[in-house]
Amino acid sequence: MLRRMTDRPEAGPEGGAWHAATPEATLAALGATPRGLSEAEAAARLARFGPNRLPAAPGRSPWRRLLDQFRSLLVVVLLVAGVLALAFGKPVDAAVILLVVLVNAAIGFIQEGKAEEALSAIARMLDPRAAVRREGHRRSIPAEQVVPGDILLLEPGDRVPADARLLRAHGLAVDESALTGESVPAEKSAAPVPPGAPLAERASMLFSGTLVVRGTAIAVATATGAGTELGRISRLLTEVEAPTTPLLRQMDRFARQATAVVLALSVVVFAFAVLARGYSLPDGFLALVAIAVSAIPAGLPAVLTVTLAIGVRRMAARNALIRRLPAVETLGAVSVICSDKTGTLTRNEMSVARVASAGAEVRVEGEGYAPQGRVEPGLDAEHLAAAARVAALCNDAALRRAEGGWTAEGDPMEAALLAFAHRAGLDAEAAREAHPRLDAIPFDSAHRWMATLHGTPDGGRFACVKGAPEAVLPMAGAAGEALQPMVARLAAEGMRVLALAEAVLPEGADRLDAAALAGALCRPVLVGLIDPPRPEAIAAVAECRAAGIRVVMITGDHAATAAAIARDLGLAEAPRVLTGAELDALDDAAFRQAARDVEVFARTSPEHKLRLVEALQADGRIVAMTGDGVNDSPALKRADIGVAMGRGGTVAAQQAADMVLADDNFASIVAAVKEGRTVHDNVTKVIGWTLPTNGGEAFAIIAAIVAAVVLPLTPLQILWVNMITAVTLGLVLAFEPPEEGVMRRPPRAPDAPLVDGHLLWRILFVSALFVAGTFGVFFWFVGQGAAEAVARSAAVNALVALEVFYLFSVRMLHGRSLGWRQAMGTPPVLAGLAVVLAAQALLTYAPPLQAAFGTAALSAAEVLACAAVGAAAFLVLEAEKALLRRLRRR
Ligand code: ADP
Ligand code: MG
Repeated sequence: MLRRMTDRPEAGPEGGAWHAATPEATLAALGATPRGLSEAEAAARLARFGPNRLPAAPGRSPWRRLLDQFRSLLVVVLLVAGVLALAFGKPVDAAVILLVVLVNAAIGFIQEGKAEEALSAIARMLDPRAAVRREGHRRSIPAEQVVPGDILLLEPGDRVPADARLLRAHGLAVDESALTGESVPAEKSAAPVPPGAPLAERASMLFSGTLVVRGTAIAVATATGAGTELGRISRLLTEVEAPTTPLLRQMDRFARQATAVVLALSVVVFAFAVLARGYSLPDGFLALVAIAVSAIPAGLPAVLTVTLAIGVRRMAARNALIRRLPAVETLGAVSVICSDKTGTLTRNEMSVARVASAGAEVRVEGEGYAPQGRVEPGLDAEHLAAAARVAALCNDAALRRAEGGWTAEGDPMEAALLAFAHRAGLDAEAAREAHPRLDAIPFDSAHRWMATLHGTPDGGRFACVKGAPEAVLPMAGAAGEALQPMVARLAAEGMRVLALAEAVLPEGADRLDAAALAGALCRPVLVGLIDPPRPEAIAAVAECRAAGIRVVMITGDHAATAAAIARDLGLAEAPRVLTGAELDALDDAAFRQAARDVEVFARTSPEHKLRLVEALQADGRIVAMTGDGVNDSPALKRADIGVAMGRGGTVAAQQAADMVLADDNFASIVAAVKEGRTVHDNVTKVIGWTLPTNGGEAFAIIAAIVAAVVLPLTPLQILWVNMITAVTLGLVLAFEPPEEGVMRRPPRAPDAPLVDGHLLWRILFVSALFVAGTFGVFFWFVGQGAAEAVARSAAVNALVALEVFYLFSVRMLHGRSLGWRQAMGTPPVLAGLAVVLAAQALLTYAPPLQAAFGTAALSAAEVLACAAVGAAAFLVLEAEKALLRRLRRR
């Protein structure tokens, strides 16, 4: 029967529709029970129905990628040039031009392949998980392993992992825009709807890929993978976005403009050479081609893509998964990081350390989440028993015995409460069996408490409530108010303080409502939970201070707790603290001032995060903001870098974020910022090397034609140099490691252009150096009576030496390039260098290449002379750097 139904997703029990059937009939038809499938049955169904995933969208095929390499103006120009060279009777030149085209295409092909690979690897690391009930226990499993008949447990922020029929729903609303395009969340309930209802009106159904925005639900999966509604429309959604960023678009535009300008310039030079300097048509034409090829930064966009992709990969290695490529660029400019406290700055390994009720406060002993331990005597027995009951029942977590200790399933704070219940002498599992949950008001960061309704075997009803003391204690009347002073005391020690209380309700009650609980709570008890700061977060906060990045803590926790933790973290000597309520009382100007000055925002709600991001951005800040819940999505979207938690965060937050932290750790944000700064440095280095060397190569020819002297290098030789260095030296800067002081300088200005005045000056200055170097070598050799071929050989080698030394100069943007460490280079640099040297040796000494390129062998002394030219230029460039540094410091 199952087989038949999933083959036809429309079908339901007895051939009817799932949404029209009762929950009982659905369960029966799917061979399921509310306790969930057994693991064996789930495994059998997984084998039978296959994994719960959609067929992957086909990426760009390798052929397509290869063809795309030939779709640039430069390639067309080159191919035409090749044909013309052949027509002019210059087969060697034609062959070299063709080789240039092929080599360029091959580099582009390989580079783009690497970049796409890096990005899709990240996508795989974000595989979603799903909460299901199997054999009566809550389990978190990869969403891919959900099978028809699985009992799904859903909370706000979850993505529905499969199509499912609701069994129970509390205040449930689901964002189905992925499926229906309707942006208003759909209200859902378990009651059957008419068989003919269209998709958007099937309120008893949940659909794969949609997001729970409110309420909780238990549902049974009816279809998975390609059998879901999403699977049926996904064939229409298989387009993949091309990975692009503002920087890449800017460079693409720049490369196109440069192509046009350079082509025009080379045509002018061509005309000048033929008309004024008496060049033959073929010779003039070859000069044109050489100028165009060397001056057009054709490979630049591809190299920059690789630089970004390497950044993405390095960030992933440090637990920061990039969801949107532009984030890689923006990260380097971040000037404020707004972070959650719990779990991001702290370890999120909670434990109950203190229990307090009227007149008494005692310690709780125990290791981690282990049930073993004890509560110090001294507390009223009835209060302690009530606290243990609430801790066990008003709780969705589970403890699991794992190798080397106990681990938490679900919210770490709730797991800590469960361990506490055991330590207080309650068998939590037995209590959960004896008092089944009948209803619940889920935790919500806006009201900060949670309640559950339970039955006793004799028909009695009672409620368990836990939450922030300000929210819970007033519901417990005078007994609650009496505990208020203790709250501040516990919080000042850095503990998270929670109030627990019970209420006896009328027999037969089957719904909880907040109004009925107010004033009815009794036996209030406080618990203090410790959650120490992460040691690596303390180091990361210090790193941020050195890097001119402000760290702001935004938490739902108590002001005193937050202040104590902020102090431990070194956020400030005496951190300034504002609460959400205090923020609400401020006018816009005061709010902006607060955003500028205050380090800790406590008892905030998600709307405050959004307002803070906006206020900081209005001040010109680049803001990274963390979040985990559904309600954090607007702030995450608005922030320059929205950061979601990979473990504790909801799928909704992850979808809104630019970056997801695999380890929920603040230190990973800072590591990503450091990589972001490095990426930006490397982009600057790639551009800073490419444009001036291109300029130098082109000007060497132009200068000779204009000055009416013999060309120190032939166009063919220029083509060779361009081809060899582009494959090797042009690429290696993408792999540069962070420079020493990257996290000791202030964030860069976000709007600084890439090609600025300094770079333009560099292009001119380096071009001049290159022209001087090659001309100097050539005419010095000629003056010594060397043959033209030898003098040209020397000029070619001098040009390459200049490019190599210039590479080492560019490698250190912010520091000196002279020194051992600087000279050693990275493995890519050394590999690039080795290839260049080998290629030059062949060009200079291999007879076939000598014949093709018109070169001749050089003596050892002559080779050294060429290298010396490069070294001299290097020293001049160092002097220029030092001078500019000194000028700028003034
Ligand atoms: P944070 O920013 O520290 O993650 P939350 O918004 O998660 O803050 O929590 C804010 C407050 O809500 C906590 O200090 C606590 O008092 C209360 N609280 C948090 N989680 C729960 C829960 N599961 N049940 C009841 N109350 C909770
Ligand atoms: Mg939280």
